[in-house]
Amino acid sequence: MPRTPPEDAQARRAIAPVICYPTDTLPRPDLPLYTAARDGATKCAEYLVPPREARVYDVPAGHVFRITSVEGPQVGDLNLHNAHDLTERFYSGKTRALHGTHVSTGDRLWSSFPHLRPMATILADTLDWYGIDAYGGSVHDVIGTRCDPYTANVLSGAQYHQCCHSNLTRALAQHLAVPAAGAEPLVHDVLNVFMCTGFTRDTGQYFMKASPVRPGDYIEFFAEIDLLGNLSACPGGDCSAEHSSDTAACYPLLVEVFAPAKGALDRWSQPPRNGYDQSHGMG
Ligand SMILES: [Zn+2]
Repeated sequence: MPRTPPEDAQARRAIAPVICYPTDTLPRPDLPLYTAARDGATKCAEYLVPPREARVYDVPAGHVFRITSVEGPQVGDLNLHNAHDLTERFYSGKTRALHGTHVSTGDRLWSSFPHLRPMATILADTLDWYGIDAYGGSVHDVIGTRCDPYTANVLSGAQYHQCCHSNLTRALAQHLAVPAAGAEPLVHDVLNVFMCTGFTRDTGQYFMKASPVRPGDYIEFFAEIDLLGNLSACPGGDCSAEHSSDTAACYPLLVEVFAPAKGALDRWSQPPRNGYDQSHGMG
């Protein structure tokens, strides 16, 4: 049983929150420039990610990649690495702290310490109309981690190998030509593309519900640095019921990469590594 609240409990609860990280001083992306470059870009590669599998793909800086729902509603788990240093990877926790629980057009995907810089900027999102629904749910979350066989094992004792964590591990291991154990430590918390999630108001529990994505919906990212993408088509399908099993209907996801026209980004430069000196007060 919880303790008896103090007399001023209501007054303490009534204190208004403040935003932890006001974003007005963040470096702003030049969205008109990016959009103009995108409009003149031409497709240079495409990859079809099969259901319950992942695929690795390169996106040079200044290029755009688009993830599209094809055939049926499907959620994707996205990892991003600096193509030249795989230890610089997408940092979902800090992206969440800066941009909120779910991301959309204009938000940026930030990299891990000590780099902490934008890796990608979202240029377009056909689900931006969804907003926040009556349950507190929204799309493209940075609150979930990725479905994984360890949690599945704790919950049910299962040995299931098609969770996004394993799909991402296999795809990266094959790309690097290393055993699973060599790739697994590089796999990280994802951007849950097209996934509709939130926290229940009464118990604060993480929930998912059927994704509003339909074939033809897409989300587009501008690569701020040379990227290695790794996208898993989640075994949860549209995540309306369960994941970590083969019971959900699953569909492929399409990844397309677009190259900017020559000169389109002449006024643009890649974001530098973070400016903190890393001495941590140790002189
Ligand atoms: Zn998954």
